[in-house]
Parts: sequence; C-alpha cells; structure tokens
Amino acid sequence: MNARLRIGLSSCFFPADPLRSIFKGKVLEYLEQSMAHWLQSMGVLVYMIPSRATGHDFGGYAEDLDGLVLQGGSDVAPPSYGEVAERPEWSGDRLRDDYEIALVRDFVKQGKPILGICRGLQLLNVAFGGTLYQDVETHAPNALCHRNWEIYDTNHHDLRITENSEMATWYKSPVLLVNSVHHQAIKQLAPDFKVEAISPKDGIIEAVRHSGPSWIFGVQWHPEFQGRDPKLLDDSIILARFLEAIKIRREKPTRAQV
Ligand code: MN
Repeated sequence: MNARLRIGLSSCFFPADPLRSIFKGKVLEYLEQSMAHWLQSMGVLVYMIPSRATGHDFGGYAEDLDGLVLQGGSDVAPPSYGEVAERPEWSGDRLRDDYEIALVRDFVKQGKPILGICRGLQLLNVAFGGTLYQDVETHAPNALCHRNWEIYDTNHHDLRITENSEMATWYKSPVLLVNSVHHQAIKQLAPDFKVEAISPKDGIIEAVRHSGPSWIFGVQWHPEFQGRDPKLLDDSIILARFLEAIKIRREKPTRAQV
C-alpha cells in the first residue's frame, strides 16, 4: 500500500466564553499548530477528529485512519481516575477525558497505534486504570519544577531511559534532556504499562509503553515544541517509530489486541 499515512489527532476544547468577540458563547475544538507541523514533517496527513453531539462512537474514524495522536492541553479531571478535585483550578476537563477515552478504546479495538503527548500520556494511563498527581508541586513535594509559566517550553530537565526498555534501543545515550510543561504526572502506573523513562532527579515518570501487542506509547514532554535543538532529545526518532508501527499494522491487520 503506497497511500500516505493518515493520522487522527484528538482535539483540544475551548469552553464557551460569553466575552469572546468571535464565536461568542460557542464551544471551540482546536489543534495546536506545532503539533500538526511536527507530524506533517514526516509526510503524513493529519486529520483532527471532532467530538460528537451525542454518544462517543468513533468507529468510522478508527477504521479509516491509521493511528491516533492525543495532544496536550488541560488537566485530566480527577473524577476520571476516581478522585475529587482538591481545588477548583485542578478540576480539569471531564468532557475531553470522556471523548478521548472513547477514541482510545476505538483505536485499541482496531489494534491501531496510539501516541500520547503530555496530557495524552496521562490520559492513556487513566484510560487503562492508573491515577495521577493532581498537582505535582503539592503531591510530589520533592519533585523538580515540571512547569514554569514564565519560561514555558524552555523549562528543561534530564530524562533517564529505563534499561532494557524499547526506548533504550532507540537512543545511544541513556540520559538526555527534554522540555517539561506539565502540571500533573503519573501517580499509580496503569496495569500492563511499562516505564520507558523517568526524570532521574525525582523519579517522575516521563515515558510509558503498553506491554501488549498494540503499539501504545506516551511521552510527558512536548516533542512538537523541541524543534531540532541539538541539546535536546531527537524526537524524530519517536515519530519514526510510531509511523513504523503503523506501517507494520497496515501490512498485518489485527484487531482487539489488548
Ligand atoms: Mn517533566
């Protein structure tokens, strides 16, 4: 099959705002530009998958598209992992959680690869039964600063790749540098997930992979913001592995692999 790969991208939600000058009082769904540009850098076609007015049946999309990327954005809502928000500003976006969990289920049913970025890693962990720190600063008090609004995606920390992991076969060095723009982090890892990389100074989980036959991978940093900075981890390797998993799946279609 020579057709270009078609990647579904989950949308971010912008709640209805009565003060907005355009689309006043309307809910918007959007993508972040560098995410689309990063994916397109390897020649794939990117399609944003909008939510549905009723229900969460994405069967048509999961059947037609080759893989799914979950982009970053708002916090995952604590009720999505069995907790109550300790502060109103940690309430997250339950509507987006429900929409993305349904998307994940449909792509998993089709055995199609999934890549979660930042919130996407957290969403994958929650969708498969794990939990999160509602606020890293409060719930992991010895942790580094993983989000700094002032310096945003120029906030960096070390990343240590787990020995004998899949990522360890992708990179020559086990210690690399990544950006860090996240408010939540994995507390309890979901069953069947493996830790691929951590922040070595505080043990915060920074990359995970599902251990089943479907290719399901999440990274806590933002590859799409890193560009080609030689100081930072080379994210083109991750994108290439994702696309390779998609090509393998297209050659040997299997269903319901996890
Ligand atoms: Mn981090």
